[in-house]
Amino acid sequence: VLSRFVVQMLSCLEHMYHDLGLVKDFNIKPHHTEEMAGLCVCCVSSCVSMTNYRNNPFHNFRHCFCVTQMMYSMIWLCSLQEKFTQVDILILMTAAVCHDLDHPGFNNTYQINARTELAVRYNDISPLENHHCAVAFQIFSQPDCNIFSNFDPEAFKQIRQGTITLILATDMARHGEILDSFKQKVDNFDYTDEEHITCLKMVLIKCCDISNEVRPMEVAEPWVDCLLEEYFMQVRFIIHHHTIHIVYYCIIIHSTMLNNIIK
Ligand SMILES: [Zn+2]
Repeated sequence: VLSRFVVQMLSCLEHMYHDLGLVKDFNIKPHHTEEMAGLCVCCVSSCVSMTNYRNNPFHNFRHCFCVTQMMYSMIWLCSLQEKFTQVDILILMTAAVCHDLDHPGFNNTYQINARTELAVRYNDISPLENHHCAVAFQIFSQPDCNIFSNFDPEAFKQIRQGTITLILATDMARHGEILDSFKQKVDNFDYTDEEHITCLKMVLIKCCDISNEVRPMEVAEPWVDCLLEEYFMQVRFIIHHHTIHIVYYCIIIHSTMLNNIIK
């Protein structure tokens, strides 16, 4: 049974998809589930949220909701629908909803140093972000959850590629690379240039991902505690489960801490 708070977040997500015209323009079928107690929500919000965000202190469904809500706000406040196609808007929103799916609460530095299953599977290249993408498209491959069922193969390919590009851009290890690329374009920004548009979308999702700090202090501050709690859970796990040389351990802790604090 979902808490009232979760149902409210789902309802808001559904409203965002409707309000941006995405449900109508792309003929997204409403999705009824028993758990929703009759509430009708977009497949994307119901399927993604109910079972696929873990109860981590920080990387949980509330974080997913905040990032998506910030994306929705930026789309309106910056009148992005005048500049972007509806396909771009759908990509921005869907990438935001899916961007931390099944996050295990341990960051990439840990994944790589501990040689976890995810790091091995993705050859140390953005293991978490690759995992979030893979889980997203596993969900969309289920007939009940496929919000793209009305898309022709070419359109689906575009949505899939766009969503993957944005989710992979949330890896903070690529922060400098993406920012440098954006700086080179920003003075002569061209909305007709596909490369420029893609770069802007990457910057947008990155801004939304770390946007807690621009919220009112009473909202922003508890998120810092959540972030630190998740980080210390990771540290405690390392101490208990890994017998490693103390110097190597300090390197892990140091790099893990920097990564966590930035993200
Ligand atoms: Zn995130």
